[in-house]
Amino acid sequence: MKIKTQGEVLAKLELETRKAMRDHEDRSVLTLIRAWRAVQVQMRSIILSEYMSDFPQKDWTLFEAKRKGTLIRIDHRITQALNIFFTFTHNHLLKVLLESHQQETLRALWMLAVTTPKSTVIKAPNGNAIREADVPEDATPWALRLSTWLGLLRNQININLTSQALAGNTLQEAAAEATDAKVKLPQGNFDFDGLLERMSRYEMISAQASARGDVSDANDDIITREVFMTLADDKVCPECEALEGAELSGPNDENYPPIHLGPCRCFVSQVPMEWAELLRSGTPEDQQFVKDLEELGMAPTAMAVRDSEGKIEGSVIVSFEDWSSKYGPVVGSAANAR
Ligand SMILES: [Zn+2]
Repeated sequence: MKIKTQGEVLAKLELETRKAMRDHEDRSVLTLIRAWRAVQVQMRSIILSEYMSDFPQKDWTLFEAKRKGTLIRIDHRITQALNIFFTFTHNHLLKVLLESHQQETLRALWMLAVTTPKSTVIKAPNGNAIREADVPEDATPWALRLSTWLGLLRNQININLTSQALAGNTLQEAAAEATDAKVKLPQGNFDFDGLLERMSRYEMISAQASARGDVSDANDDIITREVFMTLADDKVCPECEALEGAELSGPNDENYPPIHLGPCRCFVSQVPMEWAELLRSGTPEDQQFVKDLEELGMAPTAMAVRDSEGKIEGSVIVSFEDWSSKYGPVVGSAANAR
């Protein structure tokens, strides 16, 4: 009888978790990028409508546009559009960071619950603490960064409108060029949507890592090791590949993932105490069970359970959906397996 080991099961669940979290990130980023595209369209139509109302008949000129206040009105309306976008993005990111943290917490607890015997108590970090510690209501470093980028973008749009973007172009072309402005940073010029995506992914991955840290803290009696894992796909870089399986000494370890942002998507796997060892500290039935497993040569890591007739069989792996529908809202209490 070949029964899966904790390590085999854990690796499979970790992969499933990373894919689920990646889907959540992708959806969250897509919402932001779509919102940004809509703002770009809106900014173009602001430029066109203001120019056309000031220059209904004849060709427009920069000189006249300044004299009539066209540029000032455009700037005013674009600033309003960017402010609305900032508020939308800020609220959206607050929501998805909280979701990232909660989902990662739940999934980490689920993996612990599945890969430890039924009698092992898995402790959920306090739900309220997650809210307060990780998603502050007031300004965060990323919100300040976002606001700075939008300010730089607005400046650049104004520069584009008054300089080369308008030279020798049709009004439509000029509006498109002006609103395709790049964000000028000391490191170079960046497309805003690229920065937006990078920032949101980084913050979501950080929220996930912080959730893992909370789960480790709450369950340090049963988590014995933290190990660097890659997704073992073709996106893994040589640097991360070399770290596969390396033991980590906690969140301050220089190799604590992510050591860089995408495309690798490496993660830390929290390895529970061995199945047999956990059984030994369990109920009298557990202690008898571990003796039987040892005699059969199945200790220490085979995930064996007894069926209702007392026969030894491989553990049933509860899906995340089934488990979370039972233990879903984590509220600081014990979240036992099965
Ligand atoms: Zn890498």
